[in-house]
Amino acid sequence: MVSDNASPCRIALISMPWSIFNRPSIQLGALKSYLEREAEYQVDNYHLYLHLAKTISTELYSRIALSGWAGEALFAPLLFPEKKADAAKLFRQSLTGKGKPRPDFDTLTASVAESCAQWLADINFSPYALIGFSLCFSQLFASLYLAKKIKDKWSDIPIVFGGSSCSGEIGASLLQHFSTIDYLIDGEGEQQLLALCRFLSGQANSLPDKIRTLHPVPAAQTNKADKATPPLPLGRLPYPDYTPYFKEMRTLFPGQPFIPLLPIEFSRGCWWNKCTFCNLNLQWQNYRFKESGRMLKETLHLAEKHESLHFTFTDNALPRKEADHFFTSLLQEDLDIDFFAEIRGITEPDRLQLYSRAGLRTVQVGIEALSTSLLAKMAKGTTTIDNIAVMKMCSAAGIRMEGNLITDFPGTTEEEITETLRNLDFVLPFLPLQAATFFLGYGSPLHAGAAGQSKTKDFPIQRIIPHAKNRRLFPQDHVQSMLMLINSYQGDKKLQHRHWQPVKRKIRTWQDFHKQRTASGQHPLHYRDGRSFLIIRQEQPERTPLLHRLRGASRKIYLACERPEKIDSLLKAFPQVTDQALRKFIDEMCTKRLMFQENDRVLALAVHHTSG
Ligand code: SF4
Repeated sequence: MVSDNASPCRIALISMPWSIFNRPSIQLGALKSYLEREAEYQVDNYHLYLHLAKTISTELYSRIALSGWAGEALFAPLLFPEKKADAAKLFRQSLTGKGKPRPDFDTLTASVAESCAQWLADINFSPYALIGFSLCFSQLFASLYLAKKIKDKWSDIPIVFGGSSCSGEIGASLLQHFSTIDYLIDGEGEQQLLALCRFLSGQANSLPDKIRTLHPVPAAQTNKADKATPPLPLGRLPYPDYTPYFKEMRTLFPGQPFIPLLPIEFSRGCWWNKCTFCNLNLQWQNYRFKESGRMLKETLHLAEKHESLHFTFTDNALPRKEADHFFTSLLQEDLDIDFFAEIRGITEPDRLQLYSRAGLRTVQVGIEALSTSLLAKMAKGTTTIDNIAVMKMCSAAGIRMEGNLITDFPGTTEEEITETLRNLDFVLPFLPLQAATFFLGYGSPLHAGAAGQSKTKDFPIQRIIPHAKNRRLFPQDHVQSMLMLINSYQGDKKLQHRHWQPVKRKIRTWQDFHKQRTASGQHPLHYRDGRSFLIIRQEQPERTPLLHRLRGASRKIYLACERPEKIDSLLKAFPQVTDQALRKFIDEMCTKRLMFQENDRVLALAVHHTSG
């Protein structure tokens, strides 16, 4: 399979749009450093997305990259010209940026194609023995397009696809439908890519099962023993090599108008891994994480090497104990580093305060719902009061919290919609969530249940059908025969769409409330403590802020509910207060949206005025 004039040791890895342009690809960085450490290979990484960002402007590039389907829609007609009208429609619907100019679809598609052509014209791929594409969100059409262009010119160089968009049967289906892909790596890349390189260069005569190909590899040569290849301990992996990204960035943006955000990986997989809608962990082998000491060294090394203090954890959920040690040690370093991380609900104020002081500035929290029975259907392992507590704790710790509220979830009852609408009133002071419409993710427990592959609780999903947006991008024959990561279903979909409209409207009102008050430096619901009394200031949409004063035991009880507290515990802590008086006080506080109660637990909602 290796072209005659190619060195068996030189590999090109490419990351395509629509990766966020101001961060290097961790997939490419990790593979390069691993392969170069393990063997005499030279791995050249290319971040084509930087070139496109330069061509169409970083502002427009970011808008498209953050618009989900818009980026895929731009590349779709380059592969399937007959889908141009449909793709243009999807592009217009998906592109965010209210009030910003809408670029012409045809002109933009032509610029995208021209940018790829120019990039290709400058690179001679002949010396390469293998060209690899790493595919994550919104990189499918761009990768398929460039792979085709490369094959047109260098037909004898094998192309390999890998990444989270190529896992399991999805990858097998891609291989069946696109002849430009010679090999496909299913799951974690390091060991498989090394095995493929060894096979192609004649150093090995077998391929592990996790590498798919339609090329004839004699069955007898398939190494069944490799099935049992244990996952790599993350602590033994080398640091990702981001040098090529920085080289490209300096060439394309010589004035360096941005300081890149460095991706770091603390763990792979998810220690919870139960959510019924989730398919984010298909490519990982078990949940594994690095020790905090190793993570600290890696962070400091990358910061110093690339002179950047901005980091983003790629983890689905940080490992709790190790993250505690990591942030504690980082505090001693006295550096102005900032981090983004995805976390599962943390409701301990001290822990969030620690993370915040060490530099955790923004978190994505899997809120997903504000109805406890709905959270149970999602198998989130949280309750509404836990979710509201994490929103409050992040505010109190000065951490910006982003999160989604999944709408149109199958099987949602009218009571759950009513409960969600009611609870939205209580979270008004906290940063608004985004409404994220449910889709049936391939490989999620709900999908597996609907496909008859596993037992899930009864959901009104009768049949898996193609997602409307995939219908816009792929020709009919592909839609019918290809397995897709994002799917739809027949069942109660239309009913849910109707049910959820009031929730979506209320989320928009919530977002508008926060947009309108951006000039204010104060939290919309905060308190000042006067030792014997407490003053709570509560902003309301389009009304004058309210002031509430709590004295004596009322003040003490309010402060005791900084985190969700059981009513029984409060009665023990305040023996002078009767059960009846306490419940009356809590009722009043809840009516005013100053406290939230769920069953026997209550939470004070106002944050101390010194907090973000
Ligand atoms: S949604 Fe998040 S917490 Fe739930 S299983 Fe997926 S990665 Fe884990």
